[in-house]
Amino acid sequence: MNTILLNKISDVRQNIIEWKRQGLTIGLVPTMGALHKGHASLIKKAKETCDKVIVSVFVNPIQFGPNEDFDKYPRTIESDMQLCNEIGADAVFAPTPKEMYGDNIRLSNTDLTFVCPPYNLVDCLCGKARPGHFDGVATVVLKLFNITTPDYAFFGLKDAQQLFILKRMVKDLNLNLTIVPCPIVREEDGLALSSRNTYLSQEERENALSISKALNQIKSLYEKGITDVNVLFDTAISILNPNIEMEYLEFRDFDTFEKVDNIKQNTLIAIAAKSGKTRLIDNIII
Ligand code: AMP
Repeated sequence: MNTILLNKISDVRQNIIEWKRQGLTIGLVPTMGALHKGHASLIKKAKETCDKVIVSVFVNPIQFGPNEDFDKYPRTIESDMQLCNEIGADAVFAPTPKEMYGDNIRLSNTDLTFVCPPYNLVDCLCGKARPGHFDGVATVVLKLFNITTPDYAFFGLKDAQQLFILKRMVKDLNLNLTIVPCPIVREEDGLALSSRNTYLSQEERENALSISKALNQIKSLYEKGITDVNVLFDTAISILNPNIEMEYLEFRDFDTFEKVDNIKQNTLIAIAAKSGKTRLIDNIII
């Protein structure tokens, strides 16, 4: 099995036309690269579900804020290709920003058509601290959908708000594909895998373990019958390492995205916090 590397939209389209002519189903796994076992689980799921799998690797400039890590985000296309090859992905689509957005435009909505997901879904959790982030995500994902025309697209629950917003985009814009949510993959000690974990020093990594511990504690208290989010919030805070700077810890219904006062089935408990300078997110769904 040899994964092919495609950099041009026209080359992707040519492959897709041929696969569709053969009546094959297509799965897309959008990523920003620096692939790890979390991404691998999505690619494996895509292999099980579809005849042909295309992984996109694109660090998307329009979803990063001016003071975020766009420039230093890890770019590791060789090992990404190796991993895709081992799993048996058919193609990796790794375009340049110029290939995606052209070169005579400012990457803002003065010059570029953007997809703007509902304000209620973006003006909270990660969207609060990262204004414009989900517009950038929805825009690039719609472009990737239009370029690859997948039957299925695979996204991790690690980015639960992103997944919720993209499902909503598919529904609201009548896109003809199915989004497949995939569970969070963790290190043995509980840390959710993330390409940004490579930024952590050993001490910052150890402190970060308290994030998944706090989430697990909420889950076990819920299982003992405690549902009041004020109580659960305070418990979680007491477990977080004092060097962890919490940005939010929220409890939301994962059907409506409304805040809840009491946890019930299908409640998303989502946290964002900094360990050192690195912003991490994690969640559990009850
Ligand atoms: P990223 O490269 O960070 O944009 O992530 C690409 C896709 O992989 C997104 O759908 C993420 O939710 C998913 N992903 C990232 N980390 C994990 C993880 N630890 N477990 C499951 N999926 C993940």
